[in-house]
Amino acid sequence: MQAAPYFMHPERIKKMDFYITNAQVYHNHHFGAHVIHVTDGKIKLCTASDVPQGAETFDAQGRHVIPGFIDIHTHGAVGVDVNTAGPEDLHKIGRFFASNGTTSWLGSVLTDTEEQTQWCIEQFKAYDKIDTSDAAHLLGIHLEGPFLASAYKGAMPEHLLQQGNTALLRHYQELAEGRVKYMTVSPEVSGVTQMIPDAKKLGIRVGIGHSGATYQQAMEAIENGATLSTHTFNAMRLFHQHEPAIMGAVLASDEVYCEMICDGLHLVPATVNLLVKIKGLGRVIGITDSIMAAGLPDGHYHLGVNDVVVKDGDAKLESDGTRAGSTLTLNRGLKNIIAFTGKTLEEVIPALTENPAKFLGMEDHIGFIDDGMDADLVLLDEDNNVAQVFVKGNLVSKEA
Ligand SMILES: [Zn+2]
Repeated sequence: MQAAPYFMHPERIKKMDFYITNAQVYHNHHFGAHVIHVTDGKIKLCTASDVPQGAETFDAQGRHVIPGFIDIHTHGAVGVDVNTAGPEDLHKIGRFFASNGTTSWLGSVLTDTEEQTQWCIEQFKAYDKIDTSDAAHLLGIHLEGPFLASAYKGAMPEHLLQQGNTALLRHYQELAEGRVKYMTVSPEVSGVTQMIPDAKKLGIRVGIGHSGATYQQAMEAIENGATLSTHTFNAMRLFHQHEPAIMGAVLASDEVYCEMICDGLHLVPATVNLLVKIKGLGRVIGITDSIMAAGLPDGHYHLGVNDVVVKDGDAKLESDGTRAGSTLTLNRGLKNIIAFTGKTLEEVIPALTENPAKFLGMEDHIGFIDDGMDADLVLLDEDNNVAQVFVKGNLVSKEA
């Protein structure tokens, strides 16, 4: 993959009280000449005349400043697979993400054995005890399974799929001390639709996907509280004029967020354009669904228990050629969505920032540039490549 050009600032800003000046700041969906006062990792918008004499400043050189990207669905990068990642490995992913403009992420744990899933949860807990101020925030866990349909399992090991089981989910969430934020389920699997309200009570957002659900089954899941469609159109039953299926249900439900893998492979550009037309840019969420090969050259890798081969940046299972995640970054995703839809930068930014924040219920501190928000900021160059990144006010450096 092509690394985004990056310009190291010669002096890392250590003092956590400074002003980002000479910037075009994305605020209320438009760029304007605001000054950002960063103090204690938070944002306060002001104007040039508010900058005190002698204050520390960071000259944005007229660049666009946007909220950091939020990736709610990724299995890894730079040689690390979330399913086998210890705290330092998660940190490695987080540094790579930060250097590419993703300032918050959920680690997607692919369906695995109960023992391994519990081990993964322990690693997320251990991660919170190490110093990770140079990395993207790890917001928590996305459980991709195990309550999924075998017919649409994708890269999931079939023998590990399970029927709906609130007790198991509660056990995971208690062990995780609330770190499970989102789970993907198949509505047609026995017991799953009934467990969605329980998941919500446990603080878990529910997405539907990896699914052959009928329209009616999918609508019942939405009525029960599912609010998202996992990698929309991929690994799901497609629309038919007599059975609109899960695809029809998620397109017809205005409130449901639709994830889209914006690499141009999982969805061809025309499909991305169509999805955006139907849902609007307020209800699509760009994701990477990236695997350990992101940030690395073509070769042989793994995803959970599967062997994966990556050729021309395209990841497929060695066993049967099923596409198995991506090597995308959200910076490339941003440029792809603009190219595929003909929409402007201003219009596309929410798909990677505010929409995932709102889906997660975290819009009070991430996803926007506004007073009191975390100072998670991305400076873009004139080609929309990531130039500099701040995570909670820390200027992060490019991963080698
Ligand atoms: Zn996934």
